Amino acid sequence: MKILVTGGAGFIGSAVVRLAVARGHEVVNLDALTYAGCLENLASVADDPFYTFEQADIRDRAALDRILAAHQPDAVMHLAAESHVDRSIDGPGDFIETNITGTYNMLEAARSYWVAQGKPEGFRFHHISTDEVYGSLGAEGMFTEDTPYDPRSPYSASKASSDHLVRAWHETYGLPVVLTNCSNNYGAFHFPEKLVPVVILNALAGKPIPVYGQGLNVRDWLYVEDHADALLLVLEKGALGRSYNIGGENEARNIDLVKTICSILDQKRPEETPYADQITFVQDRAGHDLRYAIDPSRIRDELGWRPSVTVEEGLERTVQWYLDNEDWWRALQNRDGVGQRLGTKG
Ligand code: NAD
Repeated sequence: MKILVTGGAGFIGSAVVRLAVARGHEVVNLDALTYAGCLENLASVADDPFYTFEQADIRDRAALDRILAAHQPDAVMHLAAESHVDRSIDGPGDFIETNITGTYNMLEAARSYWVAQGKPEGFRFHHISTDEVYGSLGAEGMFTEDTPYDPRSPYSASKASSDHLVRAWHETYGLPVVLTNCSNNYGAFHFPEKLVPVVILNALAGKPIPVYGQGLNVRDWLYVEDHADALLLVLEKGALGRSYNIGGENEARNIDLVKTICSILDQKRPEETPYADQITFVQDRAGHDLRYAIDPSRIRDELGWRPSVTVEEGLERTVQWYLDNEDWWRALQNRDGVGQRLGTKG
């Protein structure tokens, strides 16, 4: 297949690109290279004849039309987005423009390309979204694909809007779409402002390890390489117009996740005192959702997919990757806002 991947220079997009190329697909990566984009994530495929990069912004409709016409992909995987909740609290405008208007542009560009091609049956527009659209759970229950949308942050509201647009383009224009809503990802190449890398890098630097509130928020942790595998499966086998929740079957409270990372570091890079001594509780995020949990029945029962690693195995690999790739994360630590507390201007 020839796949146009948007946001392929980001954390999850780059995992998708690397896996798709490894599996023999041809990939065109369309990315604007915002503060979160990093072509180093794609160094392993940069010279592969099956990989092409197009620097473009999904807010630029003419660029999308040009790229689709030039490369003639069989499918689109749409991951480009503003993705950091804390940044959405400080500055929601970029989230509205990229996540909502950008997705609208992608849908319209894909629709006119699909029509011009004679509406090929096999064409797919795969929209990648988040479990945050479902809002927050109490101690019990899980998100299914039928859980009503109840987004509570500018980020999740913008992603919810984009999901609705994608469904509307399927119902109204017949665009062949599939959707996925995944839980929190972690793994290699995770931008150093997100929780898991912040914990690893602050621990190594001897700095306080910030934990929001009391660290009681629960997330379902999904290893990024497992996620990329699930995304390619949904692209190839998912039913038209259907959405699939993707989770890691690994629910953990933030404080427990942080302590697990600290104990992995204690083993791999021992210091005189345990890294957990650096844990510092800080002011909570505004509107911080208490718990997300994914009911993975649909993707498991219909497509036979399950995650391949436990959170302990995945974190062990992730910590090792950060220990082995200091040049990568040091370069990104100098980017705008990284290392500062964001999301307090609400
Ligand atoms: P990321 O922030 O690491 O990467 C986003 C990429 O999109 C970057 O390469 C950036 O340059 C690009 N981009 C941003 N705005 C653009 C624009 N206007 N035009 C073109 N490119 C643009 O994000 P990620 O964590 O890899 O997330 C990818 C997708 O998965 C997003 O849609 C996100 O909402 C979704 N998602 C992520 C998670 C997670 O845990 N990271 C969980 C659920 C869903």
